[in-house]
Amino acid sequence: MPSAGYPGTLMTWSEHGNGVFSKRYQSLDLNIGAIECEDGLLIIDTRAHHAQARELIEDLKAISSHPVRWVINTHHHWDHTFGNGEFENVDIWGHERCIPALADYGQATLARLKKMAPGQKASFDEVLILPPNHTVGDEATVTFGGRRIEMRHLGRGHTNNDLVVVVPETDVVFAGDLVENDAPPSFGDAYPLEWPDTVAALAELVTGQVVPGHGRAADREFVVSQQADLSSVAELARERHADGMTVEAAAASGGPFPKATLEEAFGRAWSHLGEAA
Ligand SMILES: [Zn+2]
Repeated sequence: MPSAGYPGTLMTWSEHGNGVFSKRYQSLDLNIGAIECEDGLLIIDTRAHHAQARELIEDLKAISSHPVRWVINTHHHWDHTFGNGEFENVDIWGHERCIPALADYGQATLARLKKMAPGQKASFDEVLILPPNHTVGDEATVTFGGRRIEMRHLGRGHTNNDLVVVVPETDVVFAGDLVENDAPPSFGDAYPLEWPDTVAALAELVTGQVVPGHGRAADREFVVSQQADLSSVAELARERHADGMTVEAAAASGGPFPKATLEEAFGRAWSHLGEAA
């Protein structure tokens, strides 16, 4: 996560195409998407707790007088879904595995966050974990207030329930955490051996701008370069696991990401390779 050097546009909305916006928040360097539809706003992800979601609702007034009528969660992680509770009477879309993932992980994650960030305990105490009430399997095309939006699950990667949002008319793709800019990808719930193929499929969809889950908006070249790094992690994992290395030794031997990231990636990969054996 970058500590300095944010562009001046950080706290404003960027318009990527006709009524298709994103806002890059300093907190967690998270991107929120917003799409102006005929009679309401569609937003992509809801931030990390209710107070942040309320701030988002205020911030949306800068781009639209419409209320939020639809939410799409790109995956179950807390920084993308724990603001859902502010959107109780709204259609919330997510991948079908987002619901069990939130059920398995939500309460334990909330408890961990309260311990890790005692200064924000009150914010996390308020969180009502609200799963999606509309689900997508491999893909769905839905017209939200006159705008055709595609939601695609391209395979397992950052999690088992990553959903990519494509706005064909403006050539914009919201990629969730399948790609992260300005910080290494997060492997905590990842499928490191499958992630490269999923991002290769993502690259095929990106013909214009791509908004990652975190960090600066980018283009296809960035996705291709992240795909190469993810492929390298998968290849090193297979080689080093076959050589009988421990996760720690494998991470210490280097790769395209910092050691702590590699340790997380190889830890996940070793458990998946062990299962396959
Ligand atoms: Zn995530």
